[in-house]
Amino acid sequence: MEKILEAIQAGASGDEIANLPIPDSYRAAFVKRDEAAMFEGVESWDKDPRKSLHVDEVRTPELAPDEVYIAVMASSINFNTVWTSIFEPLPTFGFLDRMARESEYGARHARDEHIVGSDASGVVLRVGAAVRNWKPGDRVTVQCNYVDDQDPSAHNDSMLASNQKIWGFETNFGALADLSVVKANQLMPKPTHLSWEESAVNGLCSATSYRMLVSDNGARMKQGDSVLIWGATGGIGGYAVQYVLNGGGTPIGVVSSPERAQTLNRMGCEAVIDRKAANYQFWSDEHTQDEKEWRRFGKDIRNVNNGEDVDIVFEHPGRSTMGASVFAAKRGGTIVTCAATSGYMVEFDNRHFWMKLKQLVSSHFANYAESWAANKLLCEGKIQPLLTDTYTLEQAGEASLAVHQNKAEGKLGVLCLAPGEGLGVDDPERREAIGDDKITMFKGN
Ligand code: NAP
Repeated sequence: MEKILEAIQAGASGDEIANLPIPDSYRAAFVKRDEAAMFEGVESWDKDPRKSLHVDEVRTPELAPDEVYIAVMASSINFNTVWTSIFEPLPTFGFLDRMARESEYGARHARDEHIVGSDASGVVLRVGAAVRNWKPGDRVTVQCNYVDDQDPSAHNDSMLASNQKIWGFETNFGALADLSVVKANQLMPKPTHLSWEESAVNGLCSATSYRMLVSDNGARMKQGDSVLIWGATGGIGGYAVQYVLNGGGTPIGVVSSPERAQTLNRMGCEAVIDRKAANYQFWSDEHTQDEKEWRRFGKDIRNVNNGEDVDIVFEHPGRSTMGASVFAAKRGGTIVTCAATSGYMVEFDNRHFWMKLKQLVSSHFANYAESWAANKLLCEGKIQPLLTDTYTLEQAGEASLAVHQNKAEGKLGVLCLAPGEGLGVDDPERREAIGDDKITMFKGN
């Protein structure tokens, strides 16, 4: 991999890169099949990804005709890496074993190590025989929707494909590594004004928020809509705030500290609720929700939203907030959900839902077209990366712990082959025109 890095840093041509040998093994972060029970009896919060995520050499897999090898310059931590590394809600080896039954190439994935990670920026090293639009030397970012295009169900909205998967979570050979294998239809152009790590943090979270709010498949946000955003300085929440502002709406951001409230103000989100200061007790005990607390929450929202209820609720905490979210949406409003961080057995009062003709929309990542549209907005400087801090690949466990324990705002980048921060900016003039202060808005938060 050293020769590959030297060539990339020296600006080698595509032909030169194409002639470099692909190594037999490479450095990667992975969990082990024989350790899947290591946290049995441990409380979820105390499960420590530093114990389960290993960084070591792994065998390079063979390349399928519709795939490319990329040198991964940088990656990021997503919540799915937290789930894999704490083996919740279940160990991910089952996904890999199922994939192995699909085809000869699928069989490569069923290993005793699961290499994780679903975001990358990097350089194409080799392309398979069926790849048309990409070539060695291309600088790319990767979207994590892994689609089998031979399946008819994949040809309307590929997120509806019966065997749709998330790369680096439900497939092997993920992004927290120096090299990765991805399908050609996962590739997108790298924003020329961003560094490797700034380019690597957006793919999964930004496209998820785009589908949830902007796409026809999500809440179809209109200009003027007000949108309640849980975790508004978190990974998906921070992009959601930007999409609402960018689309002429009003974000109402919920966060859990005065510092996070200030971050929102700096982003241009004026309506903020500090959920910790408000100390909402939506659940009075494990089995009972408290409608009085929903009403208090609704009043707090109207206080910062010109006396109105919200058109859309951007929901993902799940069990702890779903009852309040359904209650808080206005008559005819939409609750769009993509997750359940605090628990997936959710409960809401159906009377508030049907009598007020609300809609509940489910959303999961994004199809290639939606990811491409989200990436275009990044390339144009209309959406900014939310990079707060950068770790090395060896520190992948530590970075995952920070996300697991809600210690991080925005996104955590991970340097893979990139030897330092700030590298990979191809168009400094463009960066200057967009504004370094905007691009690095979250840095150091
Ligand atoms: P993140 O960066 O950790 O941000 C989540 C934020 O949610 C936290 O910062 C926290 O903000 C807030 N939060 C957490 N627990 C909460 C609770 N019980 N009540 C209210 N707010 C709470 O994570 P993320 O990357 O944004 O991901 C969020 C969730 O979405 C995860 O479960 C992830 O797996 C899921 N996800 C799903 C998809 C998909 O395609 N389906 C894609 C991306 C992410 P405050 O403490 O400041 O309020």
